Amino acid sequence: MLAIEDLFTQRRHWIGGEWHEARGTASFGVHDPSTEEVIGAVAGGSCEDVDDAVEAAAKALPAWRAAPLEERLELVSRLCDVMESDAGALAEIITSEVGAPVAIAGPAHVGLAVGIARSFIDVARTFPFEEQVGRSTLLREPVGVVGCITPWNLPLILISQKLPGALAAGCTVVLKPSELTPFSALRLAECTAAAGLPPGVVNVVTGDGPITGEAIVTHPKVDKVSFTGSTRAGRRVGSLAAESVKRVSLELGGKSANLILPDADLERAVRTGVHQATFNAGQSCIAWSRILVREDQEADATGLAAEVMSAMRVGDPRDPDTEIGPLVSAAALDRVRGYIRSGVDEGARVATGGPDPVPGLDRGYYVRPTVLSGVSPGMTVAQQEIFGPVVCVISYRDEADAVEIANATDYGLHGAVWSSDPERARRVAMHVRSGMLNINGYGFDPYAPFGGVKQSGVGRELGVEGLSAFLETKVVQVCG
Ligand code: NAD
Repeated sequence: MLAIEDLFTQRRHWIGGEWHEARGTASFGVHDPSTEEVIGAVAGGSCEDVDDAVEAAAKALPAWRAAPLEERLELVSRLCDVMESDAGALAEIITSEVGAPVAIAGPAHVGLAVGIARSFIDVARTFPFEEQVGRSTLLREPVGVVGCITPWNLPLILISQKLPGALAAGCTVVLKPSELTPFSALRLAECTAAAGLPPGVVNVVTGDGPITGEAIVTHPKVDKVSFTGSTRAGRRVGSLAAESVKRVSLELGGKSANLILPDADLERAVRTGVHQATFNAGQSCIAWSRILVREDQEADATGLAAEVMSAMRVGDPRDPDTEIGPLVSAAALDRVRGYIRSGVDEGARVATGGPDPVPGLDRGYYVRPTVLSGVSPGMTVAQQEIFGPVVCVISYRDEADAVEIANATDYGLHGAVWSSDPERARRVAMHVRSGMLNINGYGFDPYAPFGGVKQSGVGRELGVEGLSAFLETKVVQVCG
């Protein structure tokens, strides 16, 4: 594998199992969010580059889909082993391109990515690829060449929610990572070769959304697009894919509610919620960015949230004690500060944090971890995804009001319900419109389907449904 410094400067795509000179001249600089310095650059993939990658994937498809399942799973398993042995380099790259603190880059960004990849092996082993229903045989066949488009916030984890499932299903892949965080994907490409995956089964083209991403989405030989990113871009991807009736899965934004019922352990619910909402500097689609508490508990909840937030160590992601690193880019910093200001302008109170720079940090895209209280459900900060370490405390009158507020956004991805009575929590959870809900704690289950309702997306990743997303059902019926 290339030395990391060479990976950062080589400006080539990964096509057909090797480095591939870019056909275009466009390139994108990549910044270290903690220093604001350019650390390298990648090629901006042209339509021709995408075409090369799709042709390589299409060429590799017949042999890959015909390979016995156990052989494919063995190669996915070897890929996991290689990622594990390369975890140090992968984590270092993620700290450099995302600004993720070292405390989470290795264990969470890389460790979880490997764990998710392994879960697909287990799921595929027991999956009914062939099933008898009455006189019909159902054959679940690979959908074909899959275009995977991924965001920057959890670059390796979100690739892992797609790639190993696609491979296990028998699909070949063209992956386009975010232009902000392309290096972890390119390193992963090298890992696929080290694991012995056949050339062309995994291809990585770097570049932006409007040119490289759309070239993948509109390519006639791409059978399915699996997209993770903003709702704005997801709408565009969905409408482009619809032109050719292309299969599409969309994993989009969120504005999840941490709904705390009055009989819950308030302190635990707030502490857990604030930690969940600020994981990865709040740059997480499933962040519980809204704390919902009954009116008479608003002051206590705000005080607790502010206490937890203000104690968080913000700073250099390479310091092992750092809990919150920088945001990914200058644009993200402007956006998050803008949201905090809009909250204040619309009548919210800053309980801790605020839009001002973090004292002592004059370099890097750092924002103050912020608690806004007195937030009403219609405010911009209660409706839109802030994607930073900012939580809004919103009060409700009664249970019905709480559910109505929880449901009063365009999103429906994740969330929590807390109560000392688990049956009550479960009953309330039934009324919250969301793809995923946790009761009395936070947990991530890689075997359970992951995804949202409303404008949080279409389809599911992970588990049986995540594997099915890369398969088509063919019915063979014996009639005579
Ligand atoms: P983004 O939509 O700007 O970009 C995501 C990816 O899509 C990037 O690779 C980008 O280059 C590409 N892209 C952008 N426009 C495109 C277009 N027109 N055609 C094809 N590709 C295009 O999102 P982002 O800022 O990178 O990521 C943050 C967003 O992702 C947040 O909204 C977050 O909630 C969401 N997200 C969702 C999940 C989930 O599983 N639901 C997980 C992580 C992040």
